[in-house]
Amino acid sequence: MPQLPLPPGSTLGILGGGQLGRMLSQAASRLGFDVVILDPEPNSPAGRVSHSQIVAAYDDPEALTALGRAADVVTFEFENVPAASIERLAEAGALVAPGPTALRVSQDRVDEKTFLNAVGAPTVDFAVVDTLDDLVVGLTELGLPALLKTRREGYDGKGQVWIHAIEDAPAALESLGGRPAILEARATFVRELSVIAARDWDGHMAVYPLGENRHEGGVLRTTLAPAAVDEKTQVRARAIAEAILDGLDYVGVIGVELFDLGDDVLLVNEIAPRVHNTGHWTQDGCVCDQFEQHIRAVAGWPLGPTAAHARIEMKNLLGDEVDQWRALSAKADERLHLYGKAEARPGRKMAHVNRVLGTV
Ligand code: AMP
Repeated sequence: MPQLPLPPGSTLGILGGGQLGRMLSQAASRLGFDVVILDPEPNSPAGRVSHSQIVAAYDDPEALTALGRAADVVTFEFENVPAASIERLAEAGALVAPGPTALRVSQDRVDEKTFLNAVGAPTVDFAVVDTLDDLVVGLTELGLPALLKTRREGYDGKGQVWIHAIEDAPAALESLGGRPAILEARATFVRELSVIAARDWDGHMAVYPLGENRHEGGVLRTTLAPAAVDEKTQVRARAIAEAILDGLDYVGVIGVELFDLGDDVLLVNEIAPRVHNTGHWTQDGCVCDQFEQHIRAVAGWPLGPTAAHARIEMKNLLGDEVDQWRALSAKADERLHLYGKAEARPGRKMAHVNRVLGTV
């Protein structure tokens, strides 16, 4: 096991070569680290700004061995990396952060909610759905409308269907293709918030101000941060984030999505054991952004400051919206972050813009 803190010149391994890996890699290189990416797609957005990329599946044993050998610490940029791969790396003696527990918990919505409730981070009521009977009982208990989701591998609103009437239950279940599911009570939120937080190897924690998020079609559209929330809400969100980080014995940055029900009631929607799209505002609103924070945490460096110096509106550019790059690049108050993706497929996250609204 390497000694912490890792000195500059050490190598970081990242599973996943998308935009989050790219921005992590850029932060790591600024701190003097080399980065090796593992991603099945050659020429990935992260691979192109890193020292090298291993092109292989996430569960390829030889590739994992090579990554473990090359890297002093291994991390990941998305939560659908097989937990077994992380376990394999850890068993082979590689330092891995966050560890396999965080990955396992966040990969299954039932395990996730069960964990959250156990550490005092409340969620909507839910029911485990394996059969139509389970679903009908769940709908009766939770009320209508309710949201049926696949337990695993759902993201950006995919694998989810609202049920407005009991008679729609069979079709809803069928639409998920027989995959194990969870039924969630509807959260009657006044707004969606998120908190980005970090924990280091010694258990120190750092929590950013809340962001307020707007989704369209299940996909994040904008984040406004710091959100205009009262002190009580900020304190509550911090307590929730810290309980989750401690409960998972977590190392690195985590994203916690929250429903604000008003009257100081916050429910956790889900957690992402990685840097998070709703934390992109920190690149232009904070001295130490979420990417650097994650690198600091996993490399055993002291965590950086989380106070905001500017109010930011972060906007995702999806699909061909990225063609506006020329006009956006000319705006004095907007900072464009392009992911270097060649193909602007509809709905694909291609870039984001941080607009500076003013100082804090
Ligand atoms: P998710 O993929 O779980 O993050 O859900 C995507 C979006 O769907 C969330 O950001 C919410 O806008 C909405 N949503 C998810 N779960 C619920 C729920 N239980 N009640 C109301 N809205 C929800």
